[in-house]
Amino acid sequence: MSARVKVRLYVDDPLVAGCERVASPPQAHYLRRVMRLGDGDQVALFNGRDGEWQARIATEGRGSCRLLVETCIRPQVFETDPILAFAPVKRLRLDYLVQKACELGAVRLIPVLTRHTGPARVNVERLRANAIEAAEQCGRLSLPEVVAPVRFDAFLAGCGRLFWADEQGGANACDTFDEAGPGPATLLIGPEGGFAEDERAALVAHDGALATSLGPRILRADTAAVSLLTLWQAVAGDWRDDCARQSTNLPL
Ligand code: SAM
Repeated sequence: MSARVKVRLYVDDPLVAGCERVASPPQAHYLRRVMRLGDGDQVALFNGRDGEWQARIATEGRGSCRLLVETCIRPQVFETDPILAFAPVKRLRLDYLVQKACELGAVRLIPVLTRHTGPARVNVERLRANAIEAAEQCGRLSLPEVVAPVRFDAFLAGCGRLFWADEQGGANACDTFDEAGPGPATLLIGPEGGFAEDERAALVAHDGALATSLGPRILRADTAAVSLLTLWQAVAGDWRDDCARQSTNLPL
């Protein structure tokens, strides 16, 4: 394996020094056949709760392997914002949206069913698998929680401070985030067909909802999600901080 490649895997189980985890069949395949790792090679494990741990591979039989957990190499970081709510789009664009939202630090993903939402069904397990893959790749310690789809009215009723992307206007998103100051942030992206008039009226009337513009061009919903998350991270999120990625002791 190249000394610059670091392999990270998400596991569900608790991580403590000295414990063993059996790699799932897809994980074992990835480690042994794709990454060509073997006995004694290092991998990093995280579960979204216990930080990141260095583990060693112990191969067994044909294809299976155990992961021997050694030391914690990064403590868990708990994140509270931003939440991304979005009207689901078609499958490949949705995969892209979820992967990028994870890379951009969204802590929760809420599919919102609006009047003009295209796909009626959302495969939450598929979204979660996309989020796991993105978290493994980008070095994140947490996973965005992917929740079941919720109807627009119910979503809005339970929502506090909300920045909604309004293709018909609104203030410049950077200025809006800046002026709003610190606090919880839910970002909402509408469907490919746009918000219906009554939804737009409900958003305008909702206490704490701020319309934000992403410029003069109409963006596809997935582009709008990436753009709004990027701007939020740059103005109000962890891109503002001196947050160079922490070393993990593993080869990068
Ligand atoms: N069908 C709508 C129309 O033609 O006006 C466009 C909907 S757009 C493809 C999908 C969503 O992305 C919108 O509901 C909005 O939330 C967001 N969006 C796209 N472009 C935007 C912009 N320039 N400013 C703010 N939000 C935008």
